[in-house]
This record gives sequence, C-alpha cells and structure tokens, in this order.
Amino acid sequence: MIKLSVPILQQNNDIFQLVKELPFIEVARRYLPGELRHQGSRWVTRCPFHEDRYPSLVVYRDGWKCFGCQEHGDSVDLVALLHNLRPLEAARMIAADFGIPLPDATQEDIAQARQATLLAKARRELKACFKVKENEVYQRLSSIYRAVDSKLAGIQTEEDLERLGGLYHIEPILEHVLEVLRTGKMTDKVAVLKSDRVKRWCNK
Ligand SMILES: [Zn+2]
Repeated sequence: MIKLSVPILQQNNDIFQLVKELPFIEVARRYLPGELRHQGSRWVTRCPFHEDRYPSLVVYRDGWKCFGCQEHGDSVDLVALLHNLRPLEAARMIAADFGIPLPDATQEDIAQARQATLLAKARRELKACFKVKENEVYQRLSSIYRAVDSKLAGIQTEEDLERLGGLYHIEPILEHVLEVLRTGKMTDKVAVLKSDRVKRWCNK
C-alpha cells in the first residue's frame, strides 16, 4: 500500500477529491487486470472493456483512455466500469482499498465500502466460473452435435430411419442452444445452462 499524505481537508472536499489525490498509476496497477507496459513515455495495457489483442488502453497522469473502444475516464470511472458500481460506490471502494481515511465516514460507510469490495470480488469469481462452465458445456454439446449429424448423414434404410429418426428432432434444438452460447445475451446463456435438457445432455 502506498503512503498518501491527505491534505488538510477543506469544507467542500469530498470523497471524490480524496480519491483524485492518489497517483492514477497506482490505481491503474491495482485494478486493471492486464499487465502495464512502458511504451515510450506512457504506460499501456490491454483494455478489459473490449477484445483487445494489442494494448490499446493508455494510462495518463490522471486518467486513462482506450483507443480501441474509446472508453475513458478517471480512477472512479475505471473502477465503476470494471466492477459495475455506481460512482460513489467506486470511490468508496478505492478509498477503502487504499486505506484513505474519510473524514465524514461513519462505521456504516466503511462497512458498505468493504461490502462493495467483497461483492465485486464475488462477481469477478462468479464470472470466471461461469466462463469455464459455459466453455465445458459448449464443447460437450458440440461433440454431441457432431455425433448426431454424422448419424443422420448415415441413414440409408428404413430401419435406420426408425431407429435414428428421433435425432431429426434433436438436431435443431442443439443448433439453437449452441447458437445461444456463441452469440446470446448473458441472461439467455444462463437460462440455457440451467435448462433440464442441457443438464441431461451434459450428464450423459
Ligand atoms: Zn477498449
């Protein structure tokens, strides 16, 4: 943790101004998931807000800007975007993480800030967990789909059709589920992953 000399507070100083006193590079180091690299006189990193193959996010003395997706802002904007927090929650999180004493902070404020930090951490973990699960299910269903497809392609006799014809019904459903996992919204993906049918397919 870095030492910060908090100036004597004026009446109108608030948590946002306190957080602004932090060197932005320290905030960037703490919260940006990618490694910060020196490029010329600037720091750059891969942007967490879009698929960034090369570092497009530039860190300035008092803020940041991504030249890929155009997101930009100060430390509060960064933490708010990263953790899906409102600005005040983000400012409290930064203050709590950097041990900035808040002049007007009540015990409740401090507890709330800790809670927000924990929640953000839980959200991050859940997201990572979801990615793994989503990927597993996708691989599993893709292989079932390929198997179904090749069985259907092999149907030649009437007996084959009687035995395997039910697969004609399954194929479009599999196609739909795979499509949702590839391009669907988060809520649709969750619904698909929770559905009994997908659970059955994945437990076979
Ligand atoms: Zn970006």
